[in-house]
Amino acid sequence: MFMPQLLLGLLFALIIAFLACRAHSLSRSGAYAAVLVGTLIFGLGGWQWAIILLTFFISSSALTRSFRKRKLALNEKFEKGGQRDAAQVLANGAVASLFAGLHFFFPQANWPWLAFAASMAAVNADTWATELGVLNPTPPCLITNGKPVEKGTSGAISFYGTLAALAGAALIAILAAALNPIAQPSLFTYHLLLISLSGLFGALFDSLLGASVQAIYRCPQCDKETERHPVHTCGAQTTQIRGWSWLNNDMVNLACAVMGTVVMLVFMWVGIVG
Ligand SMILES: [Zn+2]
Repeated sequence: MFMPQLLLGLLFALIIAFLACRAHSLSRSGAYAAVLVGTLIFGLGGWQWAIILLTFFISSSALTRSFRKRKLALNEKFEKGGQRDAAQVLANGAVASLFAGLHFFFPQANWPWLAFAASMAAVNADTWATELGVLNPTPPCLITNGKPVEKGTSGAISFYGTLAALAGAALIAILAAALNPIAQPSLFTYHLLLISLSGLFGALFDSLLGASVQAIYRCPQCDKETERHPVHTCGAQTTQIRGWSWLNNDMVNLACAVMGTVVMLVFMWVGIVG
């Protein structure tokens, strides 16, 4: 049973990655990474796992493409055209792949599914917040001190953004609670709430890191803060102004996924959820 499913996963992942690459949702390196993540999650998890992964991938790619004009005017963060590279794919999919693997070794346990769902809820929440938060009518506030800052600033949160994070987490949570291959159907609402909360915490942790220790640079030519290094989108060299130099945007996204999972594991550990 093992080999056929892994091969089926590979075939499925190849088709999705090929389509995504053609639609310019993934760069070439991003497509290779997506084949790896997709094969592991479908091959070691199963179709329920693949549905969660696809929901994240399709909804976040669609949101990246939406409202493009308004985003272009706002921030260079969106100038990349929404093509995800390997580092971005792995940052979002590594934790999920790990728990698909753990499910393979502990097929009767419920925790790999819940931890997987929490990590996907967190990265989905974060992506939705980033893509929809820019539509907030007023400037966002820094999560650490509440001071209003420019749209697109790392670590800034807004009403729309937080609402989008909750919606993004809830979409994954609804599917994960409904598709849970092991749990009793009576636990649906419980799991829905806890996966949503885990996802929201993960996304907020992402903002907290963005406002505090994430490496942030300044472009001398545009006189703007940016996450880009060593060169800005305009081509000028950027210089670091704060944060830890090793903690780039991809590391922060990985931390978001880890945090979502950690919150869920804590819920389970204290016995709120079984
Ligand atoms: Zn610049």
